[in-house]
Amino acid sequence: MATGRTISAKELTLRDAEILKVCLNLSKEYTSLIEGKESQVSYFETWAKVNLSRDAGAGRGGAKIQRDALCTRGRTDKAPYSNRNLRWHPLVVASSCPKFAKPIEKIEIHQLNGENVLKFFVKTQKKVVSFNSEQTHQISETFAVLPEHWEPHHEELKSWSDDDWTRNSCLISANEACTQVDAIETFVALNASILVANYGVKISKVSETTRRILLKSNQLSIYGDKLASILADNSLYVCPICKNGLDFTLDIFRDDERSPSWKPGWKENKQSEGDDHSPQVMHVNPLSELEIRHNSSNVRYGHRWCNITMTDHSLEETLRFMRYIVGRHE
Ligand SMILES: [Zn+2]
Repeated sequence: MATGRTISAKELTLRDAEILKVCLNLSKEYTSLIEGKESQVSYFETWAKVNLSRDAGAGRGGAKIQRDALCTRGRTDKAPYSNRNLRWHPLVVASSCPKFAKPIEKIEIHQLNGENVLKFFVKTQKKVVSFNSEQTHQISETFAVLPEHWEPHHEELKSWSDDDWTRNSCLISANEACTQVDAIETFVALNASILVANYGVKISKVSETTRRILLKSNQLSIYGDKLASILADNSLYVCPICKNGLDFTLDIFRDDERSPSWKPGWKENKQSEGDDHSPQVMHVNPLSELEIRHNSSNVRYGHRWCNITMTDHSLEETLRFMRYIVGRHE
């Protein structure tokens, strides 16, 4: 399987860098809204830091809200998916062409210094140009790689090694894609939910700060009525499934303390990711390849246990399923 960081993790276009810097400025200002130095440090380190990279930083150094709002999930399949990348990365893979992308022309497999490299051909302004896997972030519009583009290469790709895939993990799944505006709005929404629910910051303060920073960075067009109404929506501050605050621990549903289980002592443990109530990013309506659903109206933090219950179903389907199970157990 493809391992390691996504290729070109530290390569940013000017626009990528601009968006990440806006997010970093928002993070710093949000942190200053919290009372007490210790809480400020905890918020910034645990949630709000921003890494100037496509994958929000590796391992424990990763930035939580940046990952959840701006980056695709970590993947290490024997496939060309990036192991995290910016959600507005311009090359998506899909089963049919999404509305927000144009199909590429073709794929070729080239040898570069004795190694297999995917080359993608795209038509921009009536000219066909090609990009190696490590250059795909430079493509100026969003293109989709479709099943017919892979088809001529199936036999050859079957024999690719883990290293081949690691060197060519340069695409994102169309259902995880979003625009730069969606990404910033989602970043604001997720920060707001933690600031208000877990750190007691007033919504009006988050709103004023967001407006001021976006105005200063010439991104005010993002702060339209939509974002203002989302910040004012109470559903942002509770788990979409159990409707309790994000700081609600779910302990009352556990009869005993968890029994300890062995962990390899030579590996770094991830912070509290396994607690029942650890906030995890969730999509109230499941993601789709055909339209962008990673946006501030659909992305929420929910408890880990609640999120796992939902898997990839909609809230409606989940509730119907829960009602059925409760009925079966009378
Ligand atoms: Zn919950």
